Amino acid sequence: MEYPVYLDNAATTAVDPAVVEAMLPYFLSAYGNPATLYSVGMMAREAVDHAREVVADMINASPDEIVFTSGGTEADNAAIKGIASAYQEKGKHLITSAIEHHAVLEPMETLAHSGYQLDILPIDSDGRVSPEYLKHHLRPDTILVSIMHANNEIGTIQPIGEIGAICRQNGTLFHTDAVQTFGKIPIDVREQKIDLLSVSAHKLHGPKGIGFLYVRRGTKANRFMEGGGQERGYRSGTLNVPGIVGLGKATELARERMESEGKRLTTLRDVFIAKLVNTIPGVTVNGSRTHRLPNNISICIEGVQGEVTLLALDAARICASAGSACSTGSMEPSHVLKALGVSRDLARGAVRLTLGRETTMESLDYTLDVLEQSVQGLRQLAGA
Ligand code: PLP
Repeated sequence: MEYPVYLDNAATTAVDPAVVEAMLPYFLSAYGNPATLYSVGMMAREAVDHAREVVADMINASPDEIVFTSGGTEADNAAIKGIASAYQEKGKHLITSAIEHHAVLEPMETLAHSGYQLDILPIDSDGRVSPEYLKHHLRPDTILVSIMHANNEIGTIQPIGEIGAICRQNGTLFHTDAVQTFGKIPIDVREQKIDLLSVSAHKLHGPKGIGFLYVRRGTKANRFMEGGGQERGYRSGTLNVPGIVGLGKATELARERMESEGKRLTTLRDVFIAKLVNTIPGVTVNGSRTHRLPNNISICIEGVQGEVTLLALDAARICASAGSACSTGSMEPSHVLKALGVSRDLARGAVRLTLGRETTMESLDYTLDVLEQSVQGLRQLAGA
């Protein structure tokens, strides 16, 4: 078994060596600016064009609907602010869900403070948004709905096909943050009636600092970076060629492995959860058991603080994540667990394990042993 046991793949992933290899020539030899006409620039442009085709094909979009960005945060901000300003004549009503990533919630809230009206939809006990409930909130002046494809903390997959159909029927644009799903589960922007979609490479064994926003042809999004007019004027700035090549290569690899890897991780996830709840009393699983990302295990352990569990895991060379943010010294449960209705006490014990390509049953069995021993010890200490 290899150390560390890395179980934080929703935070970021190791870059695949084949991705690094694909990127290297674009640092060392084909380093030209892709906007130039000599050979080192043209080689770079051809590589960008190829990556654009690969990522577009992965979601059934056209290459001219892809705008490369610095990652998921920029794509989310660009979609929300770009649409809000372009369609303000039509209306100023926006809808999102309570469990979005901060890269969606913050720009939405900023707009709400500057004259837009915002509805934040609740989730059910599985962590899902109800399409019916959304329907009731749509208005003629609703210009944008942003509901994530799957949640980064609890792994719940939303019914985005149904949501897309409802939005299209109402003439409302639909954006989805697919940062946690691109390369893991299938996406079809035509079939699922998605107008805007955000992706980040570093969640699928690609490099950090690169991603894209899909903007459906005919959608009027305002420019989100002004300057030299790259990316059809949407996003000026010299393209990050090695990053784009890395994203393209990571997408090709993810595509080849998506089906088999999805099945493998689903089995590992379910076997681990079954063993976990049988071994450690007082463990609850957060989110849906069926509509769930193959690699997500989000749990709450009663009577033990998540951060303390993480330290115990780290001492055994296991990397995981907690579900609460420790700011200003007071432990605030995450907005996702709050929205799910998890009590404050229980939410303090949240731990998220997210599996990846390198995860094996052996590494999960080791993690279970370490968890069992540390929880037992910590509970004894708390009791004493
Ligand atoms: N959206 C979701 C759901 C995420 O999980 C993340 C990253 O954690 C982001 C957006 C931000 O992406 P990036 O790190 O590429 O800015």
